[in-house]
Amino acid sequence: MASIIRLPKGTRDILPDEIHKWYHIEEVVRRLCQDFGYREIRTPVFESTDLFVRGVGDTTDIVQKEMFTLVDAGGRSLTLRPEGTSPVVRAVLENSLYAGPMPLKLYYNPLTCYRAEKPQAGRQREFHQFGVELFGAATPAADAEVILVAYELFRRFGLAERLLLKLNSIGCPTCRAAYREALLSYLEQYRQELCDTCRQRMDKNPMRVFDCKSEICQGIAQGAPLITSYLCDACREHFEGLQQTLSALEIPFEVDPTIVRGLDYYRRTVFEFVSDDIGAQSTVCGGGRYDGLVEELGGDPLPGIGFGLGIERLIMSLERAGYVFPELPAVEVYVGMTDASLDVLTTKLVTELRRAGISAEKDIVGRSVKAQMKYADKLGAHYALIVGQNEVDTGRVTVKDMQKGESFEAALDGLKEALLAR
Ligand code: ATP
Ligand code: MG
Repeated sequence: MASIIRLPKGTRDILPDEIHKWYHIEEVVRRLCQDFGYREIRTPVFESTDLFVRGVGDTTDIVQKEMFTLVDAGGRSLTLRPEGTSPVVRAVLENSLYAGPMPLKLYYNPLTCYRAEKPQAGRQREFHQFGVELFGAATPAADAEVILVAYELFRRFGLAERLLLKLNSIGCPTCRAAYREALLSYLEQYRQELCDTCRQRMDKNPMRVFDCKSEICQGIAQGAPLITSYLCDACREHFEGLQQTLSALEIPFEVDPTIVRGLDYYRRTVFEFVSDDIGAQSTVCGGGRYDGLVEELGGDPLPGIGFGLGIERLIMSLERAGYVFPELPAVEVYVGMTDASLDVLTTKLVTELRRAGISAEKDIVGRSVKAQMKYADKLGAHYALIVGQNEVDTGRVTVKDMQKGESFEAALDGLKEALLAR
């Protein structure tokens, strides 16, 4: 016997038994985004590799070691998207969406993302993100709105109290230059102890040390100078404005100056929603302001802010919290038959029901009547009936209400009406 081919490392099937969770999340997200006035955008699974090298940044883990890159027959380098923001920015520029009314409010859901990481709980090579991107608004109020979208999603799922919002400002290029000097001279003392990656990145982007997963680097980072005391007046004012708004809205948060986010393009506000009950991979949602990105990708300056939220980690949090996902409805009616000569008649019958919005299944296996009833039971069908020659002759059929365990009579050609009336 041939051996089965297994799915690639770090990927997962989403099976029919769990699809209701995905439908539910998609529905809640769609409703949420509508409530906030965000419109959906869908971009391709792969993009030119350059988009991510420029848009995510070549000092990031993503670009340095996590991209799935392939070369097409024409010799073009393509990469499976590791994140959603740079593709959305590309689409905004390519389709001149910036020429429409501002602010431009977009979301994606769910977007598959691909990163060649070491798979573990909450970390896959193919995973899904919901995210929003807000362009054309540089105010603290815009930051607050984007954070509010994520917060409101968690609130609707009853998770708001189980997640901690961590907030930071990483300043702008002006204040970051002074900070960079201070950080560098601190890190210099530990050059020998830092991991190879951090040492290599030191000259280009020393703030990445805060994001390093190595314990030694994390220890070193703990004593490092913090961006907070280097913010320029404009950045400080912006950050304070955001904090005041969040406090006034009674959204709890904690300022954490070590949050720098993995992606290079962030400016000013960065934030994460962290859970302490899903283990090591505890960040469910991460986002921030990326005012320099649109320019970096060839557009005129346009401020932007957004977040990406991992759906797998959201599901994990929901499950830990004992969240009950609504089940999909079972088939409403099962139509059985006593023998194959009634095949066309029963097919017409179920077609009529289906067109009236009543889900219906019929025997297509050629089972015995007893086996058909057993199958109807397994399906969890609400109603079951068997059509035989007798039913055809009299035009009447007995319908079993499987939930109540009782039966009622109906006309064969009035079945739809009888069911709709119940
Ligand atoms: P981490 O620090 O966990 O690697 P990240 O900074 O790389 O996260 P982002 O790029 O900000 O993550 O992605 C946003 C969200 O997408 C994360 O908060 C997380 O919920 C989810 N996510 C990121 N990488 C993965 C992955 N490999 N598998 C599953 N979910 C992921
Ligand atoms: Mg990562």
